Amino acid sequence: MSHLHLDHAGGLEHFFGTNTEIWCHEDELKNAFWSSATGHDDGLFRPDYLRADILNWKTVSGEKLQLWEGVILHRCRGHTEGSLVLELTFLNSGTVVMTGDLFHVKENYEDGQPQGFLMRDYNEWFRSRDYVKRLIKQTNARVCLGHEGSYFDKFEKSPRFLD
Ligand SMILES: [Zn+2]
Repeated sequence: MSHLHLDHAGGLEHFFGTNTEIWCHEDELKNAFWSSATGHDDGLFRPDYLRADILNWKTVSGEKLQLWEGVILHRCRGHTEGSLVLELTFLNSGTVVMTGDLFHVKENYEDGQPQGFLMRDYNEWFRSRDYVKRLIKQTNARVCLGHEGSYFDKFEKSPRFLD
C-alpha cells in the first residue's frame, strides 16, 4: 500500500479473512490507527480496516527497502507520514516509479505546487519531491502519479484492456 487513505486502500475488504499479507510502512499504520482513534483527519481512513483479526497487516520500517530484485520501496514523507514510493525495474523495459499521492497531479510533480489541504508536512514534502526527482533522473524512469491520467495514459495497456 502506498499509503492508507481510503481512495488508495479502498477494496481491502476483499482480503478480509484471507490471510493475505497487506504491506505498508509502520508509521502509516500507526498514524491511521491514531487518526481513527482520535478523530483527527476524520474521513481519510477506513477504521473498519484497522483490525488484526480480519487483515494480516505487515509493515516495513526505515527509509528504503529492496523487497526483491527490481522492487524497491522508498519512504517519502509529506502527503502522509508513512507514504511509500515504488521503484520497479523490469528486465526489458526499464524503470517505473509509482509515486502514489506524493504527487497527485502533474502540477505537484512538475511545478512543485504543494497539495493544499491534503498536505501533512510541507518541509518533508519538498524534501521528498527533491529525492524522487533525483531518483527518476538517476534511473531514467517513467513516472506514474497518484491521480494524473495523462501520465497513466502513456503506459502500454494490457491486452485485456484494448478494444
Ligand atoms: Zn492520499
